[in-house]
Formats: sequence, C-alpha cells, structure tokens
Amino acid sequence: MSCRYVILGMGAAGIAAAEAIRSLDKQGEIVCISAEKAGYYSRPGLAYYLSKELGEKSLFPFTHQDFQNREIKRLNMTAVKFDPKEQVVLFQDGKKLGYDRLLIALGAHAVKPQVGGVDLEGVVYLDSMEQTQLMVRKARWLKKAVVVGGGITALEMVEGLQARGVRVDFFIRGERYWNRVLDENESRIVQQRLKEEGVRLHFNTELARVLGRSGKVAGVETKDGRRIPTKMVGFAIGVRPRLELAEASGLETGRGIRVNPYLETSIPGVFAAGDVAEVYDPESGVWIVDSLWPIARHQGTVAGQNMAGAQKPYQRNSPLNVTRLTGVTTTIIGKVGTGEPDNDFTIVRGESQTWQQRPEAVVCQAQEDVNRLRLLVGEKKILGALLMGDQTLSHPLEELVAAEADISPIRESIIRPDADMGNIIMRYWHEWRQMGAH
Ligand SMILES: Cc1cc2nc3c(=O)[nH]c(=O)nc-3n(C[C@H](O)[C@H](O)[C@H](O)COP(=O)(O)OP(=O)(O)OC[C@H]3O[C@@H](n4cnc5c(N)ncnc54)[C@H](O)[C@@H]3O)c2cc1C
Repeated sequence: MSCRYVILGMGAAGIAAAEAIRSLDKQGEIVCISAEKAGYYSRPGLAYYLSKELGEKSLFPFTHQDFQNREIKRLNMTAVKFDPKEQVVLFQDGKKLGYDRLLIALGAHAVKPQVGGVDLEGVVYLDSMEQTQLMVRKARWLKKAVVVGGGITALEMVEGLQARGVRVDFFIRGERYWNRVLDENESRIVQQRLKEEGVRLHFNTELARVLGRSGKVAGVETKDGRRIPTKMVGFAIGVRPRLELAEASGLETGRGIRVNPYLETSIPGVFAAGDVAEVYDPESGVWIVDSLWPIARHQGTVAGQNMAGAQKPYQRNSPLNVTRLTGVTTTIIGKVGTGEPDNDFTIVRGESQTWQQRPEAVVCQAQEDVNRLRLLVGEKKILGALLMGDQTLSHPLEELVAAEADISPIRESIIRPDADMGNIIMRYWHEWRQMGAH
C-alpha cells in the first residue's frame, strides 16, 4: 500500500525532503504544506529582491511543472497541531489530513522585540515574501526608516532600503557592527562603507519604544530619550524556531524540536528538519539549532531519505555562510570566535598583520585593503575562518575545516606574525589533496 508523506513547511528543508522521498519512493503520495501563499521561494533571495538586484520572479526555483514532474502536491494551509495516535494533522480552518510519515519543517520567525508599539502598522521584518513585498511597496513613498539590529539581516534591510532611496537610521546596541562575529577591523570596513552610502549609524543605542499615531508608526524613542520621526521601523534582532505546533502536539523540544541522529523526533514516524530542528552534536556535547539554508537542505534530504525507509544518520557539516557585507563577499566557515578580544587574547601586532593568542587557539589575520583573512587555529586543526573580499582560499579552507585536517606541519609558519598565510595554506591544501587525505 502506498505511503502518504505529509511535509509541513515548503522551505529549503521541506522541499529537499520531498525530492529525497521521491527519489526513493516512486509510488508514495507527497503533500507539501505552506502557510504562505507564495509557496516555495528562496528566503535568502529576499535581501536581493529588496536591494533590487533580483526581480521577484527569480526567487522561485521551481515552476508549477517542476512540482508536477516530481508528483509533489501543494497546499496553502496553516497547521496548528497533529495527533500522533490518529496520525492526522489539524489545520486552522478545522480541516484534517491523515499521514503515514510526517515531517515538521516550519522554519523560524523573526524575533519580535519586547517594547511598546511593535504591533503598529509600519513595523516590519525581513523574514518572508509578504513582509518584503510590504517594504518594497512602502519604499515607493517613504523618505526615511529606522532599522534595529546588529547582524546580517539588519544590514541587508539597511542596504535594501537605501537602494530603494530610503534614508536609514541604523540602531546598533553595541559599540560597533556585529561584534559577536566580526573583529574591530572587519566592523570598521562595513561601517565606513555604510557611512559612504549615507546611512546614519547610532552605536550603543537601544530602542525604548515605537511611537504611534492612529495605529501607525510615527517615530521611535531611544532608551536615552532621543526621538526620531519615521513611518517605518525594521527589526532584525534574531530568529526563533516555530515551536507552537510541536508543543501543542507533545513533542520534546529545547530551543528547537529535538531529533535523534536520524532526524526523527520523540514521536516515531514524525521527523523534523531545518531551522525548526535541534540536533545533538556529540563532539561538543551540545544541542544545536542551525539557521542556514544549506544546512536546512541537507537535513531535509536526510530526513526525507529516512522517512522513505533509509537508515541514514545525519552528519553535521561545519557551518558555512557566504554572504555580502556592504558589497564585500564574506565567507564565514566554522567557528570564528567572537571577534571581540577578551582577556584571554593578547594582541601582539598592529593593524595589518595581527595574531592573537589564547589558551586553546590562535587567531591569525592577513589584511589588504578590503581583502581580509582571519583564521582561528587550534592545536592541530583550523577551527574556523572569515574571508572578506578575495575568495581564493574559501574552498580550500572549507575543506580543511570540514575534514578537520591535521595542520601540524604548517601551524608554526602560519601563526608567525609576518606569515604569508594565503600562500602557505594554498600550498598545503594542494599537498593534502594529493595525499588523498580529504
Ligand atoms: C533575509 C534572509 C536572508 C538569509 N540569508 C541567508 C544566507 O545568506 N545564507 C544562509 O545559509 N541562510 C540565509 N538565511 C536563512 C535561510 O533562509 C533559512 O535557514 C532557511 O530558509 C531555513 O529553511 P527551512 O526550510 O527550515 O524554513 P523556512 O524556509 O523558513 O520555511 C518554513 C516553511 O514553513 C511554512 N510554515 C510556517 N508555519 C506554518 C504553519 N503553521 N503551517 C504550515 N506551514 C507553515 C512557511 O510558510 C514556509 O514554507 C536567510 C534568511 C532570511 C530571512
């Protein structure tokens, strides 16, 4: 008898799962459900749509025909819970749908700040097609906006709005941009470029409340009492897995839905993948929620294979994020530290060539205008890397970090203050590949 696979969520994880199921089970019925009218689209692409670099149409990787060819049925409905005994999903409109295997791939949503006025019309988030379309519409007549946040999405919102002719006041809680990940030099590069674009940067600034008039945003007030008039406020202060359905249905959750190595939840036959899932990392001994597109796709693929009967454990690759910060291509591989020199770090060299040491790791940097490379080097392996600008080393480093390659032979030479890090790594990577160590 043919199996019915129900997939809640039509994002990277949900669609990858549907494709994996179809490749193993040609007969089964696959039903993919999305609460969004837009269905399956590239969520990272929203930033490029806002900045006018991509048209709305190019955000849709699949045509209607692609879904038909794969025999994937689509429904635009909002799921609220499932009943594991009856094996049915319940929807907001009261309808029900039975399943044999269920995947929860509901993603994450932007965090709503705990301040007054966030429900006023004109408060926006760059997290869905609907919200992005709203920003695009508003940007046609809007002269200025406030954006609050400190990471990639906040920057994308700032740049997207500026590209549409909206002057942005950018509120950053810390004393520099993205101090959790970038070091001082990297933050400075981004900040300088933002200033050149005409963005007004407000450091050490926290929002006290959004001010309103007749239900609409009229301005903002900062904690130190400053008031700025505006009709739009964008928040990008983090994302949170959508757990309401899991909690209503009795699934084990932590920060996300907890899954075993086969991405199966605490209820047999029910799987979870993508931004909503929390996987256990045996190496570090911690539960991890990854919020990245390639990881969501990878988890979706593995979950889909297991739903169709395979017994494939999920192996977490070291996280990789390729993004653009004020037009500078930036790749973040693995662990790059906080970028914040704390007491364990000693900076022994100046601006252009720096290395910082702390007990378990060494940070090496090479810098040339906007081309920068920063490595976090452990005793035997490269723990992480951040590349801005020139991406020649991106692939070699990705491989060396992912394979946890033993870099003992070059460790001393790369941490030397005057090291030609790029060439040493490139040469070593070639040798390492020739040895068949990858
Ligand atoms: C602006 C932006 C830029 C990004 N840039 C990058 C980047 O450069 N690199 C990168 O790796 N990642 C990036 N990401 C993150 C990436 O998009 C996510 O990690 C990825 O989309 C997660 O996929 P997912 O399938 O888990 O969830 P999602 O893509 O969020 O999909 C969730 C699905 O669940 C559906 N859904 C939600 N609730 C319900 C419900 N109750 N009932 C039915 N359906 C429901 C939604 O409609 C949607 O179809 C970016 C995200 C954003 C917003």
